[in-house]
Amino acid sequence: MTKNKGNLVVISGFSGAGKGTVVRELVDRFGYSLSVSATTRKPREGEIDGVHYFFHSREEFEDLIRENGLIEYARYVDNYYGTPRRFVEEGLEEGKTVILEIEVQGAMAIRDQYPDAILIFITAPSARELADRLAGRGTESEEVVNRRLERAFDEADSIEAYDYIVCNEQGKVSDCAETIRSIILAENCRLSRQASLARDMKKGFEEILSSNRG
Ligand code: 5GP
Repeated sequence: MTKNKGNLVVISGFSGAGKGTVVRELVDRFGYSLSVSATTRKPREGEIDGVHYFFHSREEFEDLIRENGLIEYARYVDNYYGTPRRFVEEGLEEGKTVILEIEVQGAMAIRDQYPDAILIFITAPSARELADRLAGRGTESEEVVNRRLERAFDEADSIEAYDYIVCNEQGKVSDCAETIRSIILAENCRLSRQASLARDMKKGFEEILSSNRG
């Protein structure tokens, strides 16, 4: 049977919806490959270069754009974020499930280039809960929190372009990750992704029948 190429899974969500934790669970429990993005944002406490992000100066990032080293990039609250090309292309070639945790503009650019990509949007149960989570995180100033909420307000319009919306309820990260795992498994069974299996079955029957008939 011809090996199907891997799946590209895009995970977006409102800032504060907990997508980082969900994605970590997907990687740890199910072994998916997570793309590490490039950014011009300064590292937060505890963030490691090459693990959480590749941290770059603005000039370095613009070089990456010029060299076609990114499959998409976007500006988000004063900083650039982008997906390095090589990791994604090699992972898909090897048949892996590659996860991109990116914002909505990037997701739309991925959909244009990879029409088979699975687009999943993670949300909190309500806007109030999301705002409380963001304020409680304490990693950003009030001004940045408000700008992230403004961005969330704008992003709400883009949800319709996604294939799935998944709610990450407080304290239920495992459930959320399992739901996403189920989506990926179901998507793998789509006929369009299994065309070679159907063809191989047909060919197999033909061979068996012709040998049985002697
Ligand atoms: P944060 O600063 O909280 O780490 O990320 C801010 C936003 O940038 C999040 O919505 C995150 O999903 C998004 N993001 C992270 N990496 C990328 C990327 O490579 N491309 C795009 N388009 N967005 C990204």
